[in-house]
Amino acid sequence: MNPRVRFAPSPTGPLHIGGVRTALYNYLFAKKNHGTLLLRIEDTDQTRFVEGAEAYIVEAFEWLGIKFDEGVGIGGDYGPYRQSERKAMYKPYAEQLVRDGWAYYAFDTPESLDAKRKEAESQKKTFQYDASTRMGMVNSLTLPAEEVERRLASGEPFVVRFKYPDNVDIHVHDLVRGEVVINSSLLDDKVLYKSDGMPTYHLANIVDDHTMKITHVIRGEEWLPSAPLHVMLYKAFGWEAPQFAHLPLLLKPDGNGKLSKRDGDRLGFPVFPLQWTDPKSGETSSGYRESGYLPDAVVNMLALLGWNPGDDREIMTLPELVEAFSLEKISKAGAKFSLDKAKWFNHEYIQMKSAEELYPYFEKILEKRQISCNADYVKNVIDLIKDRLNFIGDFWDQAGYFFEAPTEYDSQSLKKRWKEGTGKHLLVIDDMLRAFQPFDKQKAQDAVMQYIQMHGLNMGQILNSVRIALVGAARGPELFTMIELIGTGEVHRRIERAVEVVDDNHV
Ligand code: GLU
Repeated sequence: MNPRVRFAPSPTGPLHIGGVRTALYNYLFAKKNHGTLLLRIEDTDQTRFVEGAEAYIVEAFEWLGIKFDEGVGIGGDYGPYRQSERKAMYKPYAEQLVRDGWAYYAFDTPESLDAKRKEAESQKKTFQYDASTRMGMVNSLTLPAEEVERRLASGEPFVVRFKYPDNVDIHVHDLVRGEVVINSSLLDDKVLYKSDGMPTYHLANIVDDHTMKITHVIRGEEWLPSAPLHVMLYKAFGWEAPQFAHLPLLLKPDGNGKLSKRDGDRLGFPVFPLQWTDPKSGETSSGYRESGYLPDAVVNMLALLGWNPGDDREIMTLPELVEAFSLEKISKAGAKFSLDKAKWFNHEYIQMKSAEELYPYFEKILEKRQISCNADYVKNVIDLIKDRLNFIGDFWDQAGYFFEAPTEYDSQSLKKRWKEGTGKHLLVIDDMLRAFQPFDKQKAQDAVMQYIQMHGLNMGQILNSVRIALVGAARGPELFTMIELIGTGEVHRRIERAVEVVDDNHV
C-alpha cells in the first residue's frame, strides 16, 4: 500500500525550522515510497489563532520547493483540510466514546479545578484528573444520569474527557525510538471536546488521521508524550493506528535545550524560513529567505539535522535526498543547529549555481540601488566573485565596486601599501593599460610586471595600490581580470582620482 502522510501545523505564528524539517521528512518519505503528502491545518484552538500564519506556511513551502499532493489550497478527496471547516464532524465521535465508556462529560468549573490544584500543591503534590481522582469530581461518572442530561440540555459548559483504564501499560511502537511503554496511572484524563463545539487537538488529530487514511505519523518529539493517548484513542474507536515516528529535537548550537526563536536573535541566525512580522506586537523576526539563503541549501541543511544517508555525503539535492531517505536512519539524539554549517551549505550552493541562475537575485540588489547594468557584465562579475559569497546579500560588499567607483579608501590598506611615489607609478601603469587597444590582459600584465621589475619596485605594494584605486581597499579577485572587466576607461578615471585624493591627503 502506498503510504499517506501529513504535515499538520497549527497556524499560531510563523513556522519554526523544526516544523519545516518535520514537513521535509514527511515529503522525503512520501516521495521515496510513492506515497501522498498532505497539508492539514489544525486550527481548533481559536485562542491561539494568528492572522496570516496559514498564508505564511503555504508561502514558506513554495519558497522551499516542498510540494504537497493534497490539502489546504490544493484540494483532494478527503477534504476539507482545515479543521475549523470540519467542526461538525467531531461531535459524534466524542459522543461515541462517551457511549462506549471511553470518555465522560465533566462539569468542573475552572475555579474548582484551580482549588484542587492548590490543595494538591499545599501537600507538595500535583493534581491530576485521573482514575485516582475522577470519582471525586463533578462528571457523568459521579452524577446521576438525569442530572447529566439536565446539565447538558440546559447548555451548561462541559468538556469530554478521555477515561484511561486504570493501571494498564500502554505501548507505543515508534519507528525512531523503538517501544515506549507508559502506565496509564501516570496520565491525565485529557480533554477531547468542549461545549463550544470544538474538539481539542487530540480528538481532531486522531479523527482526521483516520478519516484521511494516514498510514504514518511523522512528527516532532514534543508530541511523543501525546502518543499514548493517541494509541488509546485508536483502540477506543476500534481503528487500526498508523505507524509513529517521532523526530529528534533541533537543539541550540551548544546542545543545551531546544532551539528557540530567542537563540536565533541572540546568535544571529534565523529560526524561521521567511521573515515574519507579528500582527499584534509588530515585532519582526528574520527569515532564511531574507537573510540571503538559497532554498535548496536550507532544505539540504535541514535534511541532515537528525538524519544521514548512511555514508559521508553532505551536499545532496532534493532528488538525491529522496532517493537516500529512510526512517531507519533518523537519529534518536537531538540534532545541534550550527550556524557555521548553515553558512557552509549556503556557500556551497551558491558555488553550484551558474551566473545565469544567480543573476535574478543580484539584479534585485542592483535595482534597489537604482543601478541598471548590462546583464552580461553582471554575470561576468558573478563568475568572478561568487566564491567569496556565503549569502546572497554579500554581493554588494564583495562586488559593489564593479558598479560604483570607490568614494573612500581604506586607511589600513593605504598605510601599508601606498608610499611616496606610488601615485606617479600608478599613472604610468594606467597609461600602459590604455596602450592596449583592444585590451589584452596577458600583454598588459607582462608590461606592468616588466615596469615594476625594471624600476626595482615592490610588486605587492604597487599592485595592491592599483587595487586600492579600483576597489577602495587592497582586496578583490585577480587584478588583471578585474581591470579587463571594469574597462580601461573607468580604470583610468579611478586611478586618476585615487592619485589625486590620496597623494593630497595621506602622503
Ligand atoms: N498541530 C500539531 C502541530 O502543530 C500537529 C502535531 C502532529 O503532527 O500530530 O505540530
